[in-house]
Amino acid sequence: MRRARSINQKMKINPKTVLQNCDTLMLDMDGTVLDLAFDNYVWKELVPEEYAQQTGISKDEAREFLYATYRSMEGQLDWYCLDHWSEKLGLDILAIHRNVHERIGYLPGARKFLETVSRRDIRLLLVTNSHRDTLAVKTEVTGIADFFDHVYTSHDVGHVKEDQSFWQALQDAESFDPERTLFVDDTVSVLRSAHKFGVQMLLTVTRPDTTAPVKDNSEFAGVEGLVDLLV
Ligand SMILES: [Mg+2]
Repeated sequence: MRRARSINQKMKINPKTVLQNCDTLMLDMDGTVLDLAFDNYVWKELVPEEYAQQTGISKDEAREFLYATYRSMEGQLDWYCLDHWSEKLGLDILAIHRNVHERIGYLPGARKFLETVSRRDIRLLLVTNSHRDTLAVKTEVTGIADFFDHVYTSHDVGHVKEDQSFWQALQDAESFDPERTLFVDDTVSVLRSAHKFGVQMLLTVTRPDTTAPVKDNSEFAGVEGLVDLLV
């Protein structure tokens, strides 16, 4: 509760004016720019399905095993690593992504948002825990990387966004001003990490998955989608 109060007091952000105070805009990819429905479908439906087929267990058993395994690895670099999962599960995880690439898409209004802000005098950074291979598939389908001045993935940096080392590495590379940087992400633990590092303007996305209900239960100010930041 203490943390929630202290963050709320500091972060009286008006989504309609925040871009005017921002030199650097850092955006998460999945659930912030792109629809998390794709990733949820792959990891919660397809991977358990394929794993059940591969091992001869039921789909429910596969789900139970995999969900527990996912939970045990949340926030770790390997969680986001396709090679790790391919090896651990004996499945071609990248191929599973590719097979359903037509489901990859922008969140409502996100592409319009990128088109607009990429024309402004703001340094635009994609800051993602996503693996390079997933990023490549998603870029092939959506062209997402082309909107950004630079793309940082946690695998390249060597730390996930949940770690302070990630932010230090980003600071070393970009020399961003934490007072004039806006970071938008749909994962609360990541926003807390950015907050701890000193990034002053933080926003969450309350509808990261268009097939799921709005979630508005974090201590951070939220917008349903990036497009809500445009006046
Ligand atoms: Mg995300």
